[in-house]
Amino acid sequence: MSDRVKLVTQRSEIEEKGDAWVMTWPRADERGAHFHTYGLLTPYFKGLQEGKLMGTRCTNPDCPIYHGKGELWLPPRADCPDCHQPMEWSAANAEGYIYTYTKVIRGGLGLEIETPYYQIDIKLDGVCTIVKSYLLNRDKEIKIGDKVRAVFRKGDEATNTCLDLAWELTE
Ligand SMILES: [Zn+2]
Repeated sequence: MSDRVKLVTQRSEIEEKGDAWVMTWPRADERGAHFHTYGLLTPYFKGLQEGKLMGTRCTNPDCPIYHGKGELWLPPRADCPDCHQPMEWSAANAEGYIYTYTKVIRGGLGLEIETPYYQIDIKLDGVCTIVKSYLLNRDKEIKIGDKVRAVFRKGDEATNTCLDLAWELTE
């Protein structure tokens, strides 16, 4: 067993359709591939390829909740859930701390992450949501509050899915 978590998956191919990415998901066995567009959330997936954590915030001054001063949502939303106006894209801080976690010993059907691994929730400064992801380290016990930084699977390593974002302990 390696001390770093590996994926058990295949790369999804990406095709550009205007501003949006359309991915081909090869995991649907003999029934064939599944095609899926990232649509207005494409900048998030492009950001992972560039080593950036792209989120969105509401900047509409008439928004009943955020009044034009929204914090970042991550994962992003294309439109604000409260005023339904387009959100603005911005890069998030890629370092934070473990808000909570679960150690996954046995995965469910279709799990694409080699077990055992830590499923972690991450709190980032300036981000109003909790990011759900996985930790690459698995050779020691972890605790709530441990500091982590984002790690990106890019280039030939990229799966072109949300699995291209992972986290590692900073200490
Ligand atoms: Zn809003």
